[in-house]
Amino acid sequence: MAKIFCVANQKGGVGKTTTTVNLAAGLARVGQRVLMVDLDPQGNATMGSGVDKRKLELTVYDVLLESSSVVEARVRSEKCGYDVLGANRELAGAEVELVDVERRERRLRQALAPVEAEYDFVLIDCPPSLSMLTLNGLCSAHGVIVPMQCEYFALEGLTDLVNTIKQVHANLNKDLQIIGLLRVMFDPRITLQQQVSEQLKAHFKDKVFDTVIPRNVRLAEAPSYGLPGVVFDPAARGSQAFMEFAQEMVERIRKM
Ligand code: ADP
Ligand code: MG
Repeated sequence: MAKIFCVANQKGGVGKTTTTVNLAAGLARVGQRVLMVDLDPQGNATMGSGVDKRKLELTVYDVLLESSSVVEARVRSEKCGYDVLGANRELAGAEVELVDVERRERRLRQALAPVEAEYDFVLIDCPPSLSMLTLNGLCSAHGVIVPMQCEYFALEGLTDLVNTIKQVHANLNKDLQIIGLLRVMFDPRITLQQQVSEQLKAHFKDKVFDTVIPRNVRLAEAPSYGLPGVVFDPAARGSQAFMEFAQEMVERIRKM
């Protein structure tokens, strides 16, 4: 059965989508069967996996509204080696359309159940908010991966996310736990980043992944080619770091 992970952080631009698509591609490269679910109406993870969001007939929106199954809506990204349940702007409407629906936070969980046996990993790219969409992600998942930059205010934003995760754990999803904090866009030459990194380790201990993702321009260039960095330029430092992270995740789920 698949292990399901949300990549979440309510801040924008912290590296969620980059983490989701590169981890998906990294896992695929070591033979894992992966489904990537895009839960952000911006559809960046969809585009960044080589799937044109404007041409999709069915998306995660249709799945949340129960007008489609995952089997019908998923598409294969041949270049990336994983399946994609895509998103586009239509998804922004789901929030409103689900308002009066019972158990609306469990829609994704229910939809994923029939395909769980087909995958080793399901990775969910969350939007930059603690909205109904993110809640659907958190209700579906076994764990949360939190990408973060080692900056001064990074820890402050973490409190809200940690509290939300605790509430979901208590009320909606007993399986949910923080798998780990992933340090991304890291620049070891910046003293402040080293200091924040040390603080993170002191405070969160083994909840901080060993792998550190460096700031690397190849990772930022890759999306404009519709590819994760790991596929676009496997030799780049950032791509190698994500391959390492994929290995670390494979190890982690053995212990789960
Ligand atoms: P989010 O999904 O949290 O909004 P993104 O993954 O889209 O964040 O990343 C924000 C921006 O930073 C993007 O332009 C992305 O290409 C860039 N970026 C992400 N990770 C790295 C990295 N390790 N090195 C350089 N640029 C990065
Ligand atoms: Mg994103």
